[in-house]
Amino acid sequence: MYQAEQILKKYFGYDSFREGQETLVDGILNGQDVLGIMPTGAGKSICYQIPALLLPGMTLVVSPLISLMQDQVFSLNQAGVRAAYLNSSLTPGQYRTALKYMRQNQYKIVYVAPERLLTESFLDAIQDMDISLVSVDEAHCISQWGQDFRPSYLKIPDFVHILKKRPVIAAFTATATREVREDILALLNQQDPITLITGFDRENLRFTVRQPADKWQAALEVIREHEQECGIIYCLTRKLVEEVCESLVRAGYLATRYHAGLSDEERHHNQDDFLYDRQQIMVATNAFGMGIDKSNVRYVIHYNMPKNIESYYQEAGRAGRDGLPSDCVLLYAGQDVVTNNFFIDKMEAPEDADEETAKVIRERERERLKKMTWYCFTNDCLRDYILRYFGEYGSGYCGNCSNCLTKFREEDVSETARNLIGFVKACSWNYGLVTITDAAHGSRSSKILKAGLDQNPYYGSCSNVPLPKLRQIMNHLAAQGDLKITDDRYPVVRLTSGSDEILQGRQVVMKMAEELPKTAPGKTELSDKAGKKGGRPADHLQGDMDRGLFERLRTLRLEIAREEKVPPYIIFSDKTLVQMCLLKPKSKTEMLRVSGVGEVKYEKYGERFLTALSEET
Ligand code: ADP
Ligand code: ZN
Repeated sequence: MYQAEQILKKYFGYDSFREGQETLVDGILNGQDVLGIMPTGAGKSICYQIPALLLPGMTLVVSPLISLMQDQVFSLNQAGVRAAYLNSSLTPGQYRTALKYMRQNQYKIVYVAPERLLTESFLDAIQDMDISLVSVDEAHCISQWGQDFRPSYLKIPDFVHILKKRPVIAAFTATATREVREDILALLNQQDPITLITGFDRENLRFTVRQPADKWQAALEVIREHEQECGIIYCLTRKLVEEVCESLVRAGYLATRYHAGLSDEERHHNQDDFLYDRQQIMVATNAFGMGIDKSNVRYVIHYNMPKNIESYYQEAGRAGRDGLPSDCVLLYAGQDVVTNNFFIDKMEAPEDADEETAKVIRERERERLKKMTWYCFTNDCLRDYILRYFGEYGSGYCGNCSNCLTKFREEDVSETARNLIGFVKACSWNYGLVTITDAAHGSRSSKILKAGLDQNPYYGSCSNVPLPKLRQIMNHLAAQGDLKITDDRYPVVRLTSGSDEILQGRQVVMKMAEELPKTAPGKTELSDKAGKKGGRPADHLQGDMDRGLFERLRTLRLEIAREEKVPPYIIFSDKTLVQMCLLKPKSKTEMLRVSGVGEVKYEKYGERFLTALSEET
């Protein structure tokens, strides 16, 4: 292990392994298969890169995404490791050259796209090589249960079978559901692997849900809190991406866009602008981000609620990969549910799915959407909600999400609940949530009058409760199982056994946000509490740190990144720069103590950063 730690320091500049990394590195070095299930940003790549440097033969990394491979190879080369990738972004000439070097044992690590594995040229090149380790990145792609099933992943076991000597097989993913895990083990033929599941919690992320009257203003507030920092804004539709991006540009922000309707060329160009810090804000649909490893994203705003918690956590998780405090803000509106339901209707089933399977898949999607919606309505700890979704148990209070940071008071809503349930019970037909709350509130819309709902004895019985609050109570009842919202194309509200208990007198107590005065909404208290858990990004950066110095180091990093033609975060992460500002190293020894500064990088850039650090302002 000692040796592994030395390598970690030398090439990557880190002093110690993180939770779980050591177990997996150890396992691989002892010749055992491993399965690492770790959330995005936990540091999966180190787990196979360190063994790759210590094992006698070469390591093949199977990866589904071109951008991810390029990023990793850039980073490795920067750290002084010889690595290459083999995928469709190379010209035939480049591809042949890479294969040739590989054959000459020039690389310790080669990233390869799954569809290349069984090609003649690749098999030919690999024939006499010593392959110590095959590492499968994003291993959930092999499972049809997962979201990103890639049939070419099924070629991996066939490929391994062809090899003369069976290498160690390592698999990594951030998707933790049981079905997926079992699929990976079975399909990859892993032998008695060391399986490690690390916590899914990302402590540095602060989760916020808002239901603002004006999303644009709400988004601007977040952006203004992160002036000069990078962020991503996710929208559900291309049209909205265009609108938001345009408005940002008009407001003077450095913003760019990404969605499937743009040409490959523009997408590529815009993505690079963002990665290379030429643009600060990326406005995108969910088409953006797979394999993006930009570590200094300080906030992710969801302009719409995404389709499920898996997507949400993956997208929000692109904030703060360097471990610094970052914001994840979801801006909810009722329309988001409608849009997502529309997408589910339009969803294309996998080619080989029969009608019955397609139906099941849709139902599953609606179930997931419902859980996502409840996330927007819960008054409990948001982090806890997410962790429970992934089968983990949190503490119930994180102190770093909008619910933990909001004052709630308990309110007895039994009467309103009885009126709503009474309304549903008195109906001779099934209606959706909006129709019911509208009618209970006393709406005279033509739809309600036509359906004769004004004849319902409970019509208008909740007219003294504001509509948004009525919907909140309905959602609360549904989340508690005291009402059921069906999974149909037009979901309707039905009674459950819990409904009767409430009609018979069971109390319903709900946490309601305290209405704070409009000005300065409890700011002092907010930042106070947040401080315990790392505080806000801006506070953190401003704290004891010389902001001017940080900016100068950032400029130097950008300069070097341009010379080297790689994204700035590949030179040093924000976290490393922050540490430099705090520790103010004066010598090589001191500089090497900064997390993220390894020997190779010191040789390349150490002096320039030392000089910048010594310059007085
Ligand atoms: P994942 O693939 O799990 O999403 P990465 O491998 O991209 O995560 O790692 C996320 C970030 O954490 C990277 O910037 C990486 O350099 C950093 N990191 C990984 N291991 C360590 C460690 N032991 N100490 C400090 N930083 C680390
Ligand atoms: Zn919380």
